[in-house]
Amino acid sequence: MGNLISDKNHKASIEHNVCLSKYTTFQLGGPSPTLYHCQTPQHLVDVVQKCVKENIAFILIGGGSNLVVSDQGLDCHVIRYFSEQPIIERDGDNLNVSASTRLDDLALYAAQEGLGGINNTSGIPGAVGGAVVGNAGAFGDQIGDVTESVELITPQGDIYKKDTSQCGFSYRYSNLKETNDIVSSVRLNLTKADSNDLIKEREGILKLRAQKHPNLKTHPCAGSFFRNIEPTSRAGKRQASGWFLDQVDGKQLRSGGAVIFDKHANIIVKGSHATAEDVYQLSQKMYHLVKDKFDLDLVREVRFVGDFDQKPESIQSIIW
Ligand SMILES: Cc1cc2nc3c(=O)[nH]c(=O)nc-3n(C[C@H](O)[C@H](O)[C@H](O)COP(=O)(O)OP(=O)(O)OC[C@H]3O[C@@H](n4cnc5c(N)ncnc54)[C@H](O)[C@@H]3O)c2cc1C
Repeated sequence: MGNLISDKNHKASIEHNVCLSKYTTFQLGGPSPTLYHCQTPQHLVDVVQKCVKENIAFILIGGGSNLVVSDQGLDCHVIRYFSEQPIIERDGDNLNVSASTRLDDLALYAAQEGLGGINNTSGIPGAVGGAVVGNAGAFGDQIGDVTESVELITPQGDIYKKDTSQCGFSYRYSNLKETNDIVSSVRLNLTKADSNDLIKEREGILKLRAQKHPNLKTHPCAGSFFRNIEPTSRAGKRQASGWFLDQVDGKQLRSGGAVIFDKHANIIVKGSHATAEDVYQLSQKMYHLVKDKFDLDLVREVRFVGDFDQKPESIQSIIW
């Protein structure tokens, strides 16, 4: 890592020919010609506007915890918007947060400050921007519930703001998925609560997550692979995709080195020598088994990026 591409106050660094497996929790994915590391909203604006000006195609990633990058890598540049240090400013019961901040750092900060409403996101990997775009959450609550507004950069480099009512938040969805706008910062509206209670609750959540979720060091993955089934579907009410996958003996499935997590049929983990292609093929098997038995179309929560064998056209639309 080295070159600085901005002025001395706003340093975004560049890596060339970098293997994207370094920056995804699945630890899979081939190279990108150039990766820009942006930590602050100013870095992000500088780099996006530079790419636009020079007509350079790019994709944006955060913590890489919801992605499968193809083994061939990408022929476009990658902007990684992720900060090791939390960038958060308190304003009464509101928090202004750089979207590069880790989601769990935000949850910890809010708990320490005695602000409730975001504690449920404790332990979810990734950055705040990715969480807002996908309306991440747990235990029935999601980040969109406490989002007041978001600062955005369009793929053309223009800056604007959206209030929460304009984001179309619903289960694991915001309309930012469609617009391709980049979240640079977020304003949250939280509620005063007892800090000790929040910290205690947080510890309980982290313990529960450690029991139920794969340890990323030993079982690289991207969390739940498919969204739960929507209430409007044939399932009648929202049901865990894992239940349907269990009915088709999902835990026994594998494809090359990609296997199913032994505690959860809806989580693919990277076994030895797994490739991104293995993960793609295994997800296809899961999809088809549920489709054949229940006539249900599982919808991916995880995003594929790049080329995969026999990739359907529809994947193109969710690459961003
Ligand atoms: C072990 C494990 C457990 C998990 N548990 C949960 C859970 O309980 N609940 C839950 O909701 N999710 C969970 N996830 C999934 C994942 O952590 C979340 O979806 C997370 O919010 C993704 O954020 P990210 O920064 O890693 O996004 P990335 O994976 O980097 O990107 C995902 C998508 O968001 C886009 N994106 C990223 N940042 C921005 C931005 N700033 N502006 C615009 N677009 C952006 C990317 O282009 C990409 O399309 C889990 C994942 C793992 C590995």
